[in-house]
Amino acid sequence: MKLINAVQKVIQNLGNHQLGKCNICGNITAFLCIDVQAVRNNMYCPFCRSSSRKRHVAKIIIQEVLKPGSTIAEIPQTQELSIYNADVDDAFYQKLHHHNLYICSTFSPEFKPGSEIRPGVFCQDLEHLTFANETFDIAITEDVFEHVRNHQQGLREVHRILKPGGYHIFTVPCNFDRETIVRVDTSGKEDIHLLPPEYHGDKIRGNILAYRTFGIDIFDLLKKVGFETKVDFSNYLDRKNGIFDSYVFCSQKV
Ligand SMILES: [Zn+2]
Repeated sequence: MKLINAVQKVIQNLGNHQLGKCNICGNITAFLCIDVQAVRNNMYCPFCRSSSRKRHVAKIIIQEVLKPGSTIAEIPQTQELSIYNADVDDAFYQKLHHHNLYICSTFSPEFKPGSEIRPGVFCQDLEHLTFANETFDIAITEDVFEHVRNHQQGLREVHRILKPGGYHIFTVPCNFDRETIVRVDTSGKEDIHLLPPEYHGDKIRGNILAYRTFGIDIFDLLKKVGFETKVDFSNYLDRKNGIFDSYVFCSQKV
């Protein structure tokens, strides 16, 4: 979004900004609303540009592996915590990219999968990750798996690269009151659209096709892959960290 548009939206939504403390960069701030209908994807921290969704992922990382009340920026460089994030140049990258054990990725057809695009940033295809078995304590994917053609294969890959007891912390659109909506038949070589194609915006690759909208059967699938999964729904108290109206899956490799 162009800066001028963003400023206009910030002014239009003056009544919807919320004060709190960012659990990624640690600043006390006003979280800036630019779209009240989709607060999960905005309520930006002006310091680290994290969205509500990203701070919700941060909440789960802090809850599972860090000290209560700490922030992502406070993870010491010396901490033996290896993190793989399938997102680049985000608030986590800003705070952690100088850590040896922080690796992130994007997918670009111009690069060979596994090649290092720049320090700490790899080209990766989630269905065929090039990392060794049991490399990471945490893998993060945000609104990615609805776009992975063979999502079962992708989940098996994430499971493979996690250490025993490691966490896949992720978000996907999910209807908890019904089964997965299969939008595209991917059983053959070619995609067959079963429903009008749905595309979601991606800051790097533009509009990308959603193969499915997950449903309650996601839990059976995750169990079959070898994960124990819980879902965290944001609550009233999370608002103090600028987290609104979202849910995050936390799958532990058992
Ligand atoms: Zn922040």
